[in-house]
Amino acid sequence: MNNLILIKYGELTTKKSNRNTFIKLLATNIKKILTDEEFNIKFDRVRMYIECNNVNSVIEKLKNVFGIHGIVICHKVNTNIEDIKQKVLELLIKENFESFKINTRRADKSFEVHSMELNNIIGGYILKNIKSRVDVHNPDILVTIEIRVEGTFIYTNEIKGLGGYPVGIQGKGMLMLSGGIDSPVAGYLSLKRGVDLECLYFESPPHTSLEAKNKVIKLASIINSYSGNIKVNVVPFTKLQEAIYKNVPDSYVITIMRRMMYRIAEKLSIKNNCKVIINGESIGQVASQTLTSMGVINSVTNFPVIRPVACMDKLEIIEISKKIKTYETSILPYEDCCTIFLPTHPVINPDMNKCLNYEMSFNYEQLINECIENIEVITNLKQQEFNDLL
Ligand code: ATP
Ligand code: MG
Repeated sequence: MNNLILIKYGELTTKKSNRNTFIKLLATNIKKILTDEEFNIKFDRVRMYIECNNVNSVIEKLKNVFGIHGIVICHKVNTNIEDIKQKVLELLIKENFESFKINTRRADKSFEVHSMELNNIIGGYILKNIKSRVDVHNPDILVTIEIRVEGTFIYTNEIKGLGGYPVGIQGKGMLMLSGGIDSPVAGYLSLKRGVDLECLYFESPPHTSLEAKNKVIKLASIINSYSGNIKVNVVPFTKLQEAIYKNVPDSYVITIMRRMMYRIAEKLSIKNNCKVIINGESIGQVASQTLTSMGVINSVTNFPVIRPVACMDKLEIIEISKKIKTYETSILPYEDCCTIFLPTHPVINPDMNKCLNYEMSFNYEQLINECIENIEVITNLKQQEFNDLL
């Protein structure tokens, strides 16, 4: 394998006591995302190195891994001045720049030339061979030379990593995933903070179509490229939803329906070891997302709920959804169970007692249990296999 990539850790370096756990999990996550590649991985407390053949495709995949701060393609040479000089020249001659800086780090103190001295030797050699100047404060190009026991590593440009924490370090959350714009973004933001995901989708066939379900699966497969572990629980919601429409006045159907969704999300989270429910609610966006509505809906559970996009404007959410490539799928026009039979005047300040009374008029607990018993679980969400789903 003739390429070497160096991974710089992100925010995890601040968590001193958990450092080893973080690094090991990051390595596991990287291995998972590189299953189709030939590679070797080595790591210590400071850095991680990946040897591979297909450097470009490996780097594209590493760009999707949370917990990576920077990615650099390293060039390994023997630790002697002549080899270092030649390699730095070979790298810089391909670049377009006016100023540069050489930054040597001498981790292997047995190498007799000190850092400053090596900076001068290599810098002088470059000045002699390439028309340029040294700028130590704001160089166009920074050349880093790391003298280590196993050899000398030379690199120039650093590719920015995603940052965040390794996925799974916080355990798992249950993402309520609809086909809209907001919930996939909420999922992505949770993954970024180290929360792995399981998804929960409520479908109401024949009122909702197979396309609507496939759209959700495709969205899950896109966010799965940041995790590798995601599965989708498809909940058959038709009977419960029909019972709600039969027993509850029009203006309250959405409120009651969402209270049922939360009840099911709680039960499934406990069953499947998820520590938190996650959804794409955003304050004030629709009638069920006023603070009063959110309070009345949330009151059915004590389970923690996070709403990563709660305080974002729609345009900010759209910007993220474009960046993470869920937007094009999210805007496909398939009906969700929240949008079918939408009442003309959904209540925006629902009354808790009314909700409790309406709910007493039918046996929803039995229907909730049926929903959970009949869940369809979809796994193996490799993104490329779902590209043509819609
Ligand atoms: P989104 O753009 O994510 O669909 P939205 O603005 O359309 O959100 P709602 O339809 O009120 O808002 O839904 C709010 C949140 O409830 C969604 O972001 C999602 O987390 C969850 N949700 C709604 N419908 C479903 C569903 N059919 N299955 C699972 N979760 C759902
Ligand atoms: Mg929606």
